[in-house]
Amino acid sequence: MRMTRRTLLIGAGAGVLGVILASCTPEPAPTPTPSRTPTPKPTGGAISPTAFARSAWTSDPFSLGAASYTPPGTQQSAREALAAPVDDRLFFAGEATDTEAPGTIDAALRSGDRAADDVIRAAGDGERIAVIGAGLAGAVATSRLVAAGHEVMVFEARDRVGGRVQSVVDEEQWPVPAQLGGWLLASADTEMAAQLTRLDIRSTTLGTPLWRSADGDVAPVSSDPVNAAIAAGQQQPADVALADALTEAGVDLDDPGVVALLAAIAASSGSDVDEASTWFPPTLPPTEFTAPLGDLGTIVDDLLDGAKVSLTSPVSRVAYDEAGVSLGIATGESLSFDRVVITVPLGVLQGEGLQFAPALPFGQRGAIAELGMGRIETVWMRFDESPFAATAPADADADAPADPAAVPTMWHVVGGDALIRTWFDLSPETGESIVVGIVGGDAAGEFAELDDQKALEAAIASLAPFLATP
Ligand SMILES: Cc1cc2nc3c(=O)[nH]c(=O)nc-3n(C[C@H](O)[C@H](O)[C@H](O)COP(=O)(O)OP(=O)(O)OC[C@H]3O[C@@H](n4cnc5c(N)ncnc54)[C@H](O)[C@@H]3O)c2cc1C
Repeated sequence: MRMTRRTLLIGAGAGVLGVILASCTPEPAPTPTPSRTPTPKPTGGAISPTAFARSAWTSDPFSLGAASYTPPGTQQSAREALAAPVDDRLFFAGEATDTEAPGTIDAALRSGDRAADDVIRAAGDGERIAVIGAGLAGAVATSRLVAAGHEVMVFEARDRVGGRVQSVVDEEQWPVPAQLGGWLLASADTEMAAQLTRLDIRSTTLGTPLWRSADGDVAPVSSDPVNAAIAAGQQQPADVALADALTEAGVDLDDPGVVALLAAIAASSGSDVDEASTWFPPTLPPTEFTAPLGDLGTIVDDLLDGAKVSLTSPVSRVAYDEAGVSLGIATGESLSFDRVVITVPLGVLQGEGLQFAPALPFGQRGAIAELGMGRIETVWMRFDESPFAATAPADADADAPADPAAVPTMWHVVGGDALIRTWFDLSPETGESIVVGIVGGDAAGEFAELDDQKALEAAIASLAPFLATP
């Protein structure tokens, strides 16, 4: 195990305060993170994966959704209002505070940097700063604040760090870590790509979309009509739901190809077109993604180096005045700091889990109420024997070696009543039959409510057009 300067604490058992005081004497040995409960492996009837992993972010009390989106009528300035420091004591970070590409990994990284800048500007030397949440935003802010010479204590509600980035590392089940949260990058030139390079984490490209219905391959569905509807909607005097802008532009929302395209948009943005803004629309998914193949938790671990991290320590109350900040931890303890960086997801801010005393200014409360929290869920399946039909182009020379760039690794399910319409094929990269399904919007909410057996059945049924024996 890599030794770091960080003291990793498990708060709930010993009591956060007790452990912090203890840590002022000789540094205690890090307490290991409790081992993960193995995911039950349901069977899917005739077709049964050897390994199966799925997410349920929609119902997870520490995310209550997957990614923020902008509803119709809401300005991007709501995100700036959320990001504004409160009395130079409270500083908000997290993907929802980013205006450039909210809802993404890069947004989280950028927001942590921005909040750290704000704190560093306001703070004196060597202050005690708390960070709530050990996701990417919290980890970046922590790294910057530690480097600036502050004493940083991170409170994380879960028994692991990473937040909405979660790599399941289990070499017996998965040849590459199964990513249950955010992992795909729209380009190789991103903040996250720089982190991957810094820590030498390998990635691959997933792309060459293949659109297939029960009747066979169909022509690729173009995003052009959606772009045209957005452009037209952005000329209107008032913002409308993207669904209305599409209808106004003559796009048939019931066309099976359009349904598959909109499912892919929901899978990357978390919002359906009837709840998304046209002025600040979801980013349309690219035709290829950079997909990291390593443990993204190492990035978070590395950024947290030098801070005290208290796991299993949900903060339930933030009290603040001109003298400082007091945090109430759900274990019943209360701790004082000079300032706090709050990185909990928008879904948590919208819920009742975190109380502020005094109440937040109207600007923040308005932004929290106005912005939307989208739903995205993921399922990973590995098969000993591939159940899938060939996906190579029909005109490919069967005797010639396959051109990896021509192998479609992004599958779209057209028609039928599939719950999950967007899939990635990792077999060219891993040499094993591994598919990853991503579902967004209301369909993700539906998927999150299924038990493992029903979720598996829904996943296999969704893949019917791609199975060798549908
Ligand atoms: C299924 C899924 C797929 C995604 N796909 C992509 C993708 O392909 N590409 C992309 O760019 N983005 C993607 N995203 C979005 C991306 O993962 C997030 O934008 C990013 O990880 C958010 O980071 P964050 O630090 O802002 O928040 P988080 O990672 O959520 O961190 C907040 C932390 O606060 C903790 N917390 C919550 N409440 C409390 C409390 N009361 N006390 C203490 N701690 C608390 C949480 O446990 C969490 O660790 C996806 C998200 C999901 C869920």
